[in-house]
Amino acid sequence: MRLVTYRTDVSAPAILGVLVGDQVIDLHALSTHAGEPLPDSMLAFIDLGRPGLQAAYRLLARYEHDLPAGVSHGLSTVKLLAPIPRPRKNIFGIGLNYVEHVAESSESLDTAKELPKEPVIFSKPPTTVIGPGDAIEHNAAITHQLDWEVELAVIIGTTAKRTHAEHALKHVFGYSLMIDMSARDCRRAGQWIYSKGQDTYAPFGPVIVTADEIDNPQSLDLSLKVNGVIKQSSNTRHMLFDVATLIADISKGITLEPGDIIATGTPEGVGAGRTPQEWVWPGDIIEAQIEQIGYLRNPVVAVGNDPRAGRDR
Ligand code: MG
Repeated sequence: MRLVTYRTDVSAPAILGVLVGDQVIDLHALSTHAGEPLPDSMLAFIDLGRPGLQAAYRLLARYEHDLPAGVSHGLSTVKLLAPIPRPRKNIFGIGLNYVEHVAESSESLDTAKELPKEPVIFSKPPTTVIGPGDAIEHNAAITHQLDWEVELAVIIGTTAKRTHAEHALKHVFGYSLMIDMSARDCRRAGQWIYSKGQDTYAPFGPVIVTADEIDNPQSLDLSLKVNGVIKQSSNTRHMLFDVATLIADISKGITLEPGDIIATGTPEGVGAGRTPQEWVWPGDIIEAQIEQIGYLRNPVVAVGNDPRAGRDR
Protein backbone atom coordinates (compact mmCIF):
# COMPACT_ATOMS: atom_id res chain seq x y z
CA MET A 1 0.00 0.00 0.00
CA ARG A 2 1.22 3.47 -0.86
CA LEU A 3 0.33 5.90 1.92
CA VAL A 4 0.50 9.69 1.86
CA THR A 5 -0.44 12.66 4.00
CA TYR A 6 -2.20 15.45 2.09
CA ARG A 7 -4.36 18.56 2.21
CA THR A 8 -7.19 19.35 -0.19
CA ASP A 9 -6.54 23.08 0.22
CA VAL A 10 -4.38 25.38 2.31
CA SER A 11 -6.88 25.67 5.14
CA ALA A 12 -7.81 21.97 5.24
CA PRO A 13 -6.30 19.64 7.83
CA ALA A 14 -3.47 17.26 6.90
CA ILE A 15 -4.95 13.80 6.54
CA LEU A 16 -3.96 10.24 5.70
CA GLY A 17 -4.54 8.96 2.17
CA VAL A 18 -3.94 5.85 0.10
CA LEU A 19 -2.46 6.47 -3.33
CA VAL A 20 -4.10 4.27 -5.98
CA GLY A 21 -3.02 5.18 -9.49
CA ASP A 22 -3.61 8.91 -9.81
CA GLN A 23 -6.24 8.99 -7.07
CA VAL A 24 -5.78 9.73 -3.36
CA ILE A 25 -8.35 7.90 -1.27
CA ASP A 26 -9.36 9.41 2.08
CA LEU A 27 -9.04 6.29 4.24
CA HIS A 28 -10.84 7.81 7.22
CA ALA A 29 -13.80 8.88 5.07
CA LEU A 30 -14.00 5.52 3.30
CA SER A 31 -13.76 3.54 6.54
CA THR A 32 -16.35 5.77 8.21
CA HIS A 33 -18.70 5.18 5.27
CA ALA A 34 -18.19 1.43 5.78
CA GLY A 35 -18.94 1.72 9.50
CA GLU A 36 -15.47 0.74 10.77
CA PRO A 37 -13.60 4.05 11.13
CA LEU A 38 -9.84 4.12 10.75
CA PRO A 39 -7.72 7.09 11.89
CA ASP A 40 -7.16 10.16 9.76
CA SER A 41 -3.46 10.57 10.57
CA MET A 42 -0.45 8.50 9.51
CA LEU A 43 0.94 8.14 13.03
CA ALA A 44 -2.40 6.99 14.50
CA PHE A 45 -2.73 4.51 11.62
CA ILE A 46 0.80 3.16 12.18
CA ASP A 47 -0.02 2.78 15.88
CA LEU A 48 -2.81 0.31 15.00
CA GLY A 49 -0.23 -2.14 13.72
CA ARG A 50 -1.11 -5.07 11.49
CA PRO A 51 -4.89 -4.99 12.23
CA GLY A 52 -5.07 -1.45 10.85
CA LEU A 53 -3.29 -2.39 7.67
CA GLN A 54 -5.45 -5.50 7.23
CA ALA A 55 -8.62 -3.44 7.72
CA ALA A 56 -7.41 -0.94 5.12
CA TYR A 57 -6.66 -3.69 2.58
CA ARG A 58 -10.12 -5.22 3.15
CA LEU A 59 -11.83 -1.86 2.63
CA LEU A 60 -9.90 -1.06 -0.54
CA ALA A 61 -10.74 -4.48 -1.99
CA ARG A 62 -14.42 -4.13 -1.09
CA TYR A 63 -14.78 -0.71 -2.70
CA GLU A 64 -12.23 -1.17 -5.49
CA HIS A 65 -14.79 -0.72 -8.28
CA ASP A 66 -17.41 1.16 -6.32
CA LEU A 67 -15.88 4.04 -4.35
CA PRO A 68 -18.50 6.16 -2.53
CA ALA A 69 -18.75 9.75 -3.73
CA GLY A 70 -16.39 12.25 -2.18
CA VAL A 71 -13.80 9.87 -0.68
CA SER A 72 -11.19 10.23 -3.41
CA HIS A 73 -9.34 13.13 -4.99
CA GLY A 74 -7.26 13.44 -8.12
CA LEU A 75 -3.58 13.43 -7.15
CA SER A 76 -3.03 16.65 -9.09
CA THR A 77 -5.72 18.43 -7.04
CA VAL A 78 -4.16 17.88 -3.60
CA LYS A 79 -1.02 19.10 -1.85
CA LEU A 80 1.12 16.19 -0.68
CA LEU A 81 2.97 16.74 2.60
CA ALA A 82 5.72 14.72 4.24
CA PRO A 83 4.05 11.37 5.06
CA ILE A 84 4.75 12.01 8.76
CA PRO A 85 4.74 15.83 8.82
CA ARG A 86 5.80 15.99 12.46
CA PRO A 87 7.65 12.93 13.82
CA ARG A 88 7.23 12.36 17.56
CA LYS A 89 10.97 12.32 18.13
CA ASN A 90 14.23 12.93 16.38
CA ILE A 91 14.97 11.01 13.21
CA PHE A 92 17.78 8.48 13.59
CA GLY A 93 20.44 9.21 10.98
CA ILE A 94 23.19 6.77 9.99
CA GLY A 95 26.54 8.18 8.87
CA LEU A 96 29.15 6.53 6.66
CA ASN A 97 26.98 3.54 5.73
CA TYR A 98 28.07 3.04 2.11
CA VAL A 99 31.64 1.90 1.43
CA GLU A 100 32.49 4.43 -1.30
CA HIS A 101 31.01 7.27 0.76
CA VAL A 102 33.36 6.35 3.63
CA ALA A 103 36.27 6.81 1.22
CA GLU A 104 35.13 10.17 -0.19
CA SER A 105 34.35 11.45 3.33
CA SER A 106 37.77 10.52 4.68
CA GLU A 107 39.34 12.69 1.99
CA SER A 108 37.07 15.71 2.40
CA LEU A 109 35.41 15.64 5.81
CA ASP A 110 38.12 14.47 8.24
CA THR A 111 36.35 11.19 8.96
CA ALA A 112 38.29 7.92 9.39
CA LYS A 113 39.48 5.96 6.33
CA GLU A 114 38.63 2.63 7.95
CA LEU A 115 35.11 1.29 7.58
CA PRO A 116 33.09 1.82 10.78
CA LYS A 117 32.95 -1.32 12.94
CA GLU A 118 29.48 -0.40 14.17
CA PRO A 119 26.81 1.99 12.82
CA VAL A 120 27.54 5.71 13.24
CA ILE A 121 24.33 7.18 14.67
CA PHE A 122 23.24 10.82 14.86
CA SER A 123 19.87 12.52 14.93
CA LYS A 124 17.79 15.18 13.19
CA PRO A 125 15.03 17.07 15.09
CA PRO A 126 11.38 16.84 13.97
CA THR A 127 11.63 20.46 12.75
CA THR A 128 13.92 19.30 9.92
CA VAL A 129 11.02 17.63 8.09
CA ILE A 130 9.53 19.19 4.95
CA GLY A 131 7.39 17.68 2.20
CA PRO A 132 7.63 17.40 -1.57
CA GLY A 133 8.12 20.74 -3.27
CA ASP A 134 8.81 22.59 -0.03
CA ALA A 135 11.77 24.96 0.18
CA ILE A 136 15.10 23.85 1.61
CA GLU A 137 16.36 26.90 3.50
CA HIS A 138 19.76 28.23 2.57
CA ASN A 139 20.95 30.49 5.35
CA ALA A 140 24.17 32.07 4.11
CA ALA A 141 24.74 33.64 7.54
CA ILE A 142 25.68 30.20 8.87
CA THR A 143 26.58 27.98 5.91
CA HIS A 144 28.35 28.20 2.58
CA GLN A 145 28.67 24.42 2.31
CA LEU A 146 25.15 23.03 1.96
CA ASP A 147 25.26 19.46 0.65
CA TRP A 148 22.88 16.68 -0.47
CA GLU A 149 22.47 13.03 0.61
CA VAL A 150 19.77 10.73 -0.83
CA GLU A 151 18.70 8.01 1.62
CA LEU A 152 16.29 5.12 2.09
CA ALA A 153 14.10 5.94 5.12
CA VAL A 154 12.73 3.14 7.28
CA ILE A 155 9.52 3.70 9.26
CA ILE A 156 9.14 1.55 12.37
CA GLY A 157 5.77 -0.16 12.87
CA THR A 158 6.05 -2.03 16.15
CA THR A 159 8.16 -1.52 19.27
CA ALA A 160 11.66 -2.97 18.94
CA LYS A 161 13.79 -3.40 22.05
CA ARG A 162 16.93 -5.56 21.98
CA THR A 163 15.72 -7.13 18.75
CA HIS A 164 17.88 -9.66 16.91
CA ALA A 165 18.68 -8.84 13.29
CA GLU A 166 16.95 -12.00 12.07
CA HIS A 167 13.62 -10.73 13.44
CA ALA A 168 14.23 -7.01 12.89
CA LEU A 169 12.43 -6.51 9.57
CA LYS A 170 9.17 -7.62 11.22
CA HIS A 171 9.24 -4.27 13.04
CA VAL A 172 9.27 -2.25 9.81
CA PHE A 173 6.01 -0.53 8.85
CA GLY A 174 7.29 0.75 5.54
CA TYR A 175 9.90 2.56 3.49
CA SER A 176 10.24 6.06 2.16
CA LEU A 177 12.73 8.56 0.78
CA MET A 178 14.62 11.22 2.71
CA ILE A 179 17.24 13.77 1.69
CA ASP A 180 19.69 14.28 4.55
CA MET A 181 20.71 17.87 3.89
CA SER A 182 24.03 18.64 5.54
CA ALA A 183 25.77 21.98 6.17
CA ARG A 184 29.34 20.68 6.16
CA ASP A 185 30.73 23.87 7.75
CA CYS A 186 28.36 23.55 10.72
CA ARG A 187 29.93 20.44 12.21
CA ARG A 188 31.12 21.23 15.70
CA ALA A 189 33.81 19.20 17.45
CA GLY A 190 32.82 16.14 15.45
CA GLN A 191 29.12 16.53 16.35
CA TRP A 192 26.68 16.52 13.43
CA ILE A 193 23.36 17.68 14.87
CA TYR A 194 23.84 21.36 13.94
CA SER A 195 25.15 20.36 10.53
CA LYS A 196 22.27 18.02 9.72
CA GLY A 197 19.58 19.21 12.11
CA GLN A 198 18.70 22.68 10.82
CA ASP A 199 15.14 23.55 9.85
CA THR A 200 14.07 22.04 6.47
CA TYR A 201 17.09 19.71 6.28
CA ALA A 202 14.95 16.57 5.87
CA PRO A 203 12.84 16.61 2.70
CA PHE A 204 10.75 13.45 3.20
CA GLY A 205 8.28 11.39 1.20
CA PRO A 206 6.04 11.77 -0.58
CA VAL A 207 4.97 8.14 -0.03
CA ILE A 208 5.43 5.48 2.62
CA VAL A 209 5.34 2.12 0.84
CA THR A 210 4.29 -0.55 3.31
CA ALA A 211 6.85 -3.27 3.99
CA ASP A 212 4.74 -6.03 2.40
CA GLU A 213 5.31 -4.38 -1.00
CA ILE A 214 9.10 -4.27 -0.78
CA ASP A 215 10.50 -7.80 -1.14
CA ASN A 216 14.07 -6.78 -0.44
CA PRO A 217 15.01 -3.33 0.94
CA GLN A 218 18.63 -4.13 0.06
CA SER A 219 18.15 -4.12 -3.71
CA LEU A 220 16.74 -0.68 -4.50
CA ASP A 221 18.33 1.79 -6.90
CA LEU A 222 18.60 5.29 -5.44
CA SER A 223 19.77 8.48 -7.11
CA LEU A 224 19.92 12.25 -6.77
CA LYS A 225 20.18 15.11 -9.25
CA VAL A 226 21.06 18.78 -8.79
CA ASN A 227 19.67 21.04 -11.52
CA GLY A 228 19.03 17.99 -13.67
CA VAL A 229 22.57 16.59 -13.39
CA ILE A 230 23.03 13.17 -11.75
CA LYS A 231 25.24 13.44 -8.66
CA GLN A 232 24.48 10.17 -6.82
CA SER A 233 23.47 6.82 -8.30
CA SER A 234 23.80 3.60 -6.36
CA ASN A 235 21.83 0.71 -4.87
CA THR A 236 20.90 -0.09 -1.28
CA ARG A 237 22.80 -3.37 -1.62
CA HIS A 238 25.95 -1.33 -1.03
CA MET A 239 24.98 -0.45 2.55
CA LEU A 240 27.64 -1.42 5.05
CA PHE A 241 25.06 -2.21 7.76
CA ASP A 242 21.74 -3.38 6.30
CA VAL A 243 18.33 -2.30 7.59
CA ALA A 244 17.95 -5.35 9.85
CA THR A 245 21.36 -4.78 11.41
CA LEU A 246 20.62 -1.08 11.98
CA ILE A 247 17.36 -1.90 13.81
CA ALA A 248 19.10 -4.56 15.90
CA ASP A 249 21.96 -2.21 16.73
CA ILE A 250 19.90 0.85 17.67
CA SER A 251 17.39 -1.21 19.66
CA LYS A 252 20.20 -2.70 21.79
CA GLY A 253 20.21 0.58 23.69
CA ILE A 254 17.33 2.75 22.46
CA THR A 255 13.79 1.39 22.12
CA LEU A 256 12.43 1.95 18.64
CA GLU A 257 8.74 2.82 18.64
CA PRO A 258 5.95 2.98 16.05
CA GLY A 259 6.46 5.99 13.79
CA ASP A 260 10.18 6.27 14.44
CA ILE A 261 12.25 6.98 11.33
CA ILE A 262 15.73 5.77 10.42
CA ALA A 263 17.56 7.50 7.55
CA THR A 264 19.90 4.71 6.52
CA GLY A 265 22.86 6.63 5.09
CA THR A 266 23.90 7.87 1.68
CA PRO A 267 26.02 6.52 -1.17
CA GLU A 268 28.98 8.29 -2.77
CA GLY A 269 28.57 11.41 -4.89
CA VAL A 270 27.90 14.07 -2.26
CA GLY A 271 29.16 17.58 -2.97
CA ALA A 272 31.88 17.50 -0.34
CA GLY A 273 33.51 14.49 -1.98
CA ARG A 274 33.70 15.99 -5.48
CA THR A 275 36.71 17.71 -7.06
CA PRO A 276 36.29 20.62 -6.89
CA GLN A 277 33.75 20.49 -4.09
CA GLU A 278 30.20 21.48 -4.97
CA TRP A 279 27.46 22.95 -2.82
CA VAL A 280 23.86 23.95 -3.42
CA TRP A 281 22.78 27.60 -3.53
CA PRO A 282 19.46 29.47 -3.66
CA GLY A 283 17.75 28.75 -6.98
CA ASP A 284 19.10 25.20 -7.23
CA ILE A 285 16.71 22.26 -7.55
CA ILE A 286 17.33 18.90 -5.87
CA GLU A 287 15.55 15.80 -7.17
CA ALA A 288 15.86 12.37 -5.56
CA GLN A 289 14.44 9.00 -6.45
CA ILE A 290 14.29 5.48 -5.05
CA GLU A 291 13.09 2.53 -7.11
CA GLN A 292 9.62 1.23 -6.09
CA ILE A 293 9.23 4.12 -3.64
CA GLY A 294 9.11 7.48 -5.30
CA TYR A 295 10.47 10.84 -6.24
CA LEU A 296 11.09 14.10 -4.38
CA ARG A 297 11.82 17.53 -5.84
CA ASN A 298 12.76 20.44 -3.58
CA PRO A 299 14.06 23.92 -4.40
CA VAL A 300 16.82 25.61 -2.40
CA VAL A 301 15.69 29.06 -1.24
CA ALA A 302 17.55 31.90 0.51
CA VAL A 303 16.46 32.82 4.03
CA GLY A 304 17.64 35.56 6.34
CA ASN A 305 19.01 38.83 5.02
CA ASP A 306 22.70 38.10 5.00
CA PRO A 307 24.21 40.22 2.19
CA ARG A 308 26.34 37.23 1.11
CA ALA A 309 23.21 35.19 0.35
CA GLY A 310 23.33 33.72 -3.10
CA ARG A 311 25.72 31.91 -5.31
CA ASP A 312 29.32 32.76 -4.56
CA ARG A 313 31.26 29.91 -6.04
MG1 MG B 1 23.21 11.03 5.68
